Order: sequence, then C-alpha cells, then structure tokens
Amino acid sequence: MKKIVIAIDGFSSCGKSTMAKELAKKIGYIYIDSGAMYRAVTLFALENGIISDTGIDTDKLKSLMNSINIEFRLDPVTHLPITYLNGKNVEKEIRTMLVSNNVSKISAIPFVRHLMVELQQKLGEKKGIVMDGRDIGTTVFPDAELKIFVTASAEVRAQRRVDEMISKGEKVSFAEVLENVKSRDHIDQTREESPLKMAEDAIELDNSYMTISQQDEWLEKHFNDIINS
Ligand code: C5P
Repeated sequence: MKKIVIAIDGFSSCGKSTMAKELAKKIGYIYIDSGAMYRAVTLFALENGIISDTGIDTDKLKSLMNSINIEFRLDPVTHLPITYLNGKNVEKEIRTMLVSNNVSKISAIPFVRHLMVELQQKLGEKKGIVMDGRDIGTTVFPDAELKIFVTASAEVRAQRRVDEMISKGEKVSFAEVLENVKSRDHIDQTREESPLKMAEDAIELDNSYMTISQQDEWLEKHFNDIINS
C-alpha cells in the first residue's frame, strides 16, 4: 500500500496529538510531535541559563545549538515516541507550565526553526508518518498528501489542558492555562518565521463539540479517501 505524509496543524491544545497518535497507531505509521522538539530546546535553554527575566540570550543559544541532541525512542509498551534530550528522557519535564510559558518565544527564533525543520524533514523522508505542529503543512511538508488544520475555542482548549495536567498530578488553574493558550496562539500566529496559518490545501476541523472517537473516525475517513483515490 502506498505510504503518505499526514500533516496535522492547529492551535495549542486542540487535540492534534491525540488524533495524530491514534491514527498513526491504527495505520502503522510513525507519529512525531514536532512541538516536543521546540519544548526540548526550551528546556535546554532554561537549564543552561539562556532564558532570564531580561529575555533570551540568543547568541549563547546559537553557539550551543550543536550540543542539543533531540531524538525520539519508542516506548516498549505503548509504542509511542518518547522525547530524549541529550540522552535523557524529558517527556515529563517538557510539559510543565514553565516550559509552556517560554516555548513560543524560543520557537519564534529563526535559527531554532531552521534546525528543527531540517530534523523533521529527515524524519519524514521515507513517508509513512503523521506529524503534528504549527507549520507542518505549510513549511515542513508542503507536499504532504493529507493536511488537517484543527481549531477549537480557546476556552475549550484550556479546559482540556487543565484536565490533562490535573490527571498527571500537576496543580494548575484554568485562568493560568487560558492565558498561556491565548498568549501562545498570539505569538505563534504573528511571528515572522513560518507563522501558524492554515495551508491553502488543508481540511479544517473544528472539534470544539466533537468526542475523541468522532474526531478519530473523521480523520480515518479522510485518510482512507486519499489512500483509495
Ligand atoms: O504542540 P505544542 O503545544 O506542544 O507546541 C509547543 C509550542 O511549540 C507551540 O506553542 C509553538 O510555539 C511551538 N511549535 C511551533 N511549530 C511547530 C510545533 C510547535 O512553533 N511545528
């Protein structure tokens, strides 16, 4: 069967990764969370004193970019990719509010994006991949055979994120998460380098009032349409 590239873009916390992971599992494709890569760079920057109250030391970050090694290793039980930063499993650390509050500033830096896009394109060279992010259908894989753009209201997205974080034992307030979601949307949409926007040939999905199984079915149908065409 022919293998394709599936690009799933959209706003923060709109369930992109949930649907991407489920589809990848079902069709035997590799799943890559491109946001995890920007989060790993952000964690590196926080751990190395590159981010402070006065801003980001971009010169220092640039000089250290070669010493940032990001890779995904498959979890032997779930078969989902786990993010490793310089050989260390950072899957949990990259999801904290501290990282969320700084990631959009780091991901707006052109040299960071260039390197991440290069890595992402390498991961998708052989196709058979589902990648989620902000610029996958526009910049990383402009020729992807299936492009989806997911939206939902900021309030719905914030509530989903709160539920997810609370289920993992993190203490967060709805107001704090809503503020983070809105501020990341703003930075992601207005940055100069590959801003978040829907590719012209993407299919839009507003999943505000959809259940997870409804959205999984919707996505699988679009995948089958392409594979059978
Ligand atoms: O997908 P997630 O919310 O984990 O992504 C974290 C952040 O990484 C986003 O808010 C965005 O600033 C950045 N990002 C990006 N381009 C991507 C994926 C994520 O700029 N392809």
